[in-house]
Amino acid sequence: MSETASPRGKKVVVVGAGLGGLSAAISLRGEGFDVEIVEKNEKVGGKLNFKEIDGFGFDLGPSIFTLPQFFESLWERAGKKMEDYVQLQSVTPHWRNFFEDGLVLDLYEEMDLMKKELEKLPGDLDKNWEQFQAFLEYGREQYALTDEGYFDKGLDNVWEMLRHYGWRLIFKMDHGHTMSESIYNKLDDEYLRLIFEYFIKYVGSSAKDAPGYMNMMSLIQFDYGLWYVKGGMYNLARGLDKLVSDIGIRIRFNSEVETINQSGKDVTGVTLKNGETINADYVVCNMEVLPAYRKLLSEPLEFTKKLEKFEPACSGLVIHLGTDKIYDQLAHHNFFYSKNQNKHFDTVFQKGELPEDPTIYLVAPTRTDPSKAPEGHDNIKILPHIPPINPDKPHTHEDYMALKDRVINKLERMGLTDLRKHTVVEDVLTPVDIEAMYNSNRGSIYGVVSDWKKNQAFKAPKQSSKYRNLFFTGGSVNPGGGMPMVILCGQKVADRVLKQEAKMS
Ligand SMILES: Cc1cc2nc3c(=O)[nH]c(=O)nc-3n(C[C@H](O)[C@H](O)[C@H](O)COP(=O)(O)OP(=O)(O)OC[C@H]3O[C@@H](n4cnc5c(N)ncnc54)[C@H](O)[C@@H]3O)c2cc1C
Repeated sequence: MSETASPRGKKVVVVGAGLGGLSAAISLRGEGFDVEIVEKNEKVGGKLNFKEIDGFGFDLGPSIFTLPQFFESLWERAGKKMEDYVQLQSVTPHWRNFFEDGLVLDLYEEMDLMKKELEKLPGDLDKNWEQFQAFLEYGREQYALTDEGYFDKGLDNVWEMLRHYGWRLIFKMDHGHTMSESIYNKLDDEYLRLIFEYFIKYVGSSAKDAPGYMNMMSLIQFDYGLWYVKGGMYNLARGLDKLVSDIGIRIRFNSEVETINQSGKDVTGVTLKNGETINADYVVCNMEVLPAYRKLLSEPLEFTKKLEKFEPACSGLVIHLGTDKIYDQLAHHNFFYSKNQNKHFDTVFQKGELPEDPTIYLVAPTRTDPSKAPEGHDNIKILPHIPPINPDKPHTHEDYMALKDRVINKLERMGLTDLRKHTVVEDVLTPVDIEAMYNSNRGSIYGVVSDWKKNQAFKAPKQSSKYRNLFFTGGSVNPGGGMPMVILCGQKVADRVLKQEAKMS
């Protein structure tokens, strides 16, 4: 498609060049719309972000890439091939799990290696192996169900789900239990229970509040692989940036949208902070739903109140360290478990407090990509999940730094000896930084929380209930946060725009 061609003669403006915004823009361009993206920052990618400090290349956001098929289908929508823009590399082992009692257990995609790892567990190997495989089979059923409707048809609420699934929604999808309850019912081993509970990391929620069918997340990793983007995660953003330019989408950087302009039941375009107005037939907003309605549309409280059930997922304290020593015991992806994960979930998700002893995710990308640190050095990113900002009782910078100290102490205690002493570069992002960088709701890093009681694990719908030609994309919208989900979301937004187009013509 050439730079100017717009077979439909209709214009879309996309607010934000995060992965959700880019995906919607590319999909709509593939359908012949004239598309322009306006982004407040100076580059594409949103939370998929990168910073180089003294030879250490830090991925500030995502580090785990799953479900490559959702990315490939985006390239197909643009009539291109993903492999011409982005190359993936498989990561092995998937995760290394460290427990306080000294046990270390790896997760492997290869089932023979996985079975061998289970020999490290106490108890009967045959029983653990049988339960492990049965658990994956249950995850496989839950994934197949979810994929066929909620993902593939882009379903947005319980009525659409009932229409699609019928009785299977009630009898086949595991929403009668929480993720944790199903894990505890199906697995006897304490270590495996903790590991499978922490797959909830992928959506920044609590395994004690998310419905059982979300146990499909472990299956996703075992069946479809865990990947690294060759050359660094930010190469995905670079690949999308090139695709955007190849198919004739315009992007304006350093252009923050101040208002989405309204006229009755329609929106007419956006006005930037510099006062410039861009008119459009459709607006697709990649700024999160709640902040967008409050700040860009100035909707009254009675309207936004209905959306408050779409509470933010967790935030994170993102600690990047460059060390003058290589910690050989680390794999690419590592988890250091809390002594009491139950308490960790309650502290972060029920009480909204900073955890005393969090489960910690730690990534050491040089295991796959040595270019990410100078020779003889390590690149370490540490991410404990913490509550989003509570505007009525915000944590102070000192509170966050005290948590950082607790986290480093825990890692030193669990084998990363003298981590503090060997640190030569440090960069820390708090929820306050994350909110300011991406306009995310209270510093959330995965959009909306998946919580059965609060929102039945739904996120906000893709189409505005108030404006016919306003759509939302990204982690605050179904199917939710995480790279593959927001990439899928943008594609499903395009399908919804096409439906609306058919209605209006
Ligand atoms: C530390 C961290 C670790 C993570 N780890 C993983 C992981 O390992 N795997 C994984 O899959 N996911 C991970 N995620 C989650 C993943 O990054 C997000 O779910 C996803 O990138 C969000 O994309 P998005 O399009 O919803 O939003 P964003 O990336 O937030 O994009 C929104 C964009 O809109 C722009 N914008 C906002 N308001 C305006 C405005 N008014 N005007 C103009 N522009 C505006 C922002 O600047 C931003 O570029 C992680 C996130 C973080 C922060």
